[in-house]
Amino acid sequence: MFLERPAASHDAGLAQLNAFIPHAGADYARWRNHDFGPEGDNRVSAISPWLRHRLLLEETAVDAAIDAHGLDGAEKYVQEVCWRTYWKGFLERRPVHWHDYRAACDEANEQVAKDRRLAADLDKALAGETDIDAFNFWVHELRDTGYLHNHARMWFASIWVFTLELPWALGADFFLRHLLDGDPASNTLSWRWVAGLHTPGKPYIARSSNINKYTNGRFNPGYLINTQVSAPEGIERPPVGPAPLATDWQVTPTTGLLIHEDDLLPESLFGERDWPVVIAVQSTDWRSSGPVADRVRDFARDGLMDALARNPGSQTVGPIDLASADGLTAVRDAAAAAGVDQLLTPYVPTGPTGDAMAALDTVLEAGGVTRRTALRDWDALHWPASTAGFFRFWKAARPLIVER
Ligand SMILES: Cc1cc2nc3c(=O)[nH]c(=O)nc-3n(C[C@H](O)[C@H](O)[C@H](O)COP(=O)(O)OP(=O)(O)OC[C@H]3O[C@@H](n4cnc5c(N)ncnc54)[C@H](O)[C@@H]3O)c2cc1C
Repeated sequence: MFLERPAASHDAGLAQLNAFIPHAGADYARWRNHDFGPEGDNRVSAISPWLRHRLLLEETAVDAAIDAHGLDGAEKYVQEVCWRTYWKGFLERRPVHWHDYRAACDEANEQVAKDRRLAADLDKALAGETDIDAFNFWVHELRDTGYLHNHARMWFASIWVFTLELPWALGADFFLRHLLDGDPASNTLSWRWVAGLHTPGKPYIARSSNINKYTNGRFNPGYLINTQVSAPEGIERPPVGPAPLATDWQVTPTTGLLIHEDDLLPESLFGERDWPVVIAVQSTDWRSSGPVADRVRDFARDGLMDALARNPGSQTVGPIDLASADGLTAVRDAAAAAGVDQLLTPYVPTGPTGDAMAALDTVLEAGGVTRRTALRDWDALHWPASTAGFFRFWKAARPLIVER
């Protein structure tokens, strides 16, 4: 998958989805767990880089699958797309998991700086030089393509935590720096789930027989994988906060559009307008304190360019990189030069872009510019049900999807 870097445009996302849709029914239900390798005939959609940046919307994928196969026929696929919605809602209602994850990364990095053996083990894992062929293969696949099959992600994370005994947060950070679809909710919460921090008493334990079967015999790590795992204890469950509410937004003659990399289809939310200024901002480097892969940064940048081309303004600015303080002031200056006192933007979920926006807000406010956000109907509809496990979420989501 993605031996060449895929094009980061809305049209390319639609093309990827449309090519997959004939397989979104029984084919997907039967074969989705098989990983035949990066050059194999995998029967998953690989639309995650576009969904992650909202170059493609969840509802577009859901509607296309249902149109082709009916909800019963495409239920497995629709459910998987809804896993994304579920995790996004879950994190919005418990943002502490994101902040704790960032703190766990800092803590683990400090530990690595002090512990030579841990540092050497981490280096070996990140270079794909462990004793486990399968794991090494996935390290290279991830670095080379920016993608891993879902099952490979599960095996990888389980081996990282329970066999290599490395800090889970640094594994999640490695994913976030290299995945084209690297997402603060799906990634952090899936790693927590594998490590047994999500469902108490239920870590995900990778087994050689399962790897052998679902990689079609490509790998069989045998006894090299530790399956004698004890679940972590004393897991605290943070209180569930309210789901974000749909906000009132108005476009005045002095309102500009601010485009960020977590939602690159603003025209589907605000319509086509004569914006006095459209500013695109890039926050990819906020994903980690370590180096983010060029392929990941380039994908986000091209996506921002594509969104700018679809949403022209009297003035078009960017993408401005928010990695430095200069980027923050450049946004304020662009707003001031265009005479706008309000920047409207699609809702910014918890994560690196949210962190960047918090820093930007301070600078904008000092310059007399207010940033307002608009929540999408899909998120307003579904996130309230992200209170407990996925299947309770699905029970609420399914009838809402039927009614669409
Ligand atoms: C440890 C770990 C880390 C992960 N990190 C990410 C991440 O950073 N970003 C990300 O988008 N997904 C992540 N996932 C979820 C999942 O692996 C990917 O979404 C999926 O592999 C993307 O491939 P696809 O588009 O071919 O999926 P398909 O099977 O074709 O599914 C279609 C879409 O549904 C959504 N989806 C499917 N399965 C899941 C799932 N389990 N959780 C959330 N959404 C899902 C994705 O948006 C995906 O594009 C992670 C899973 C694990 C176990």
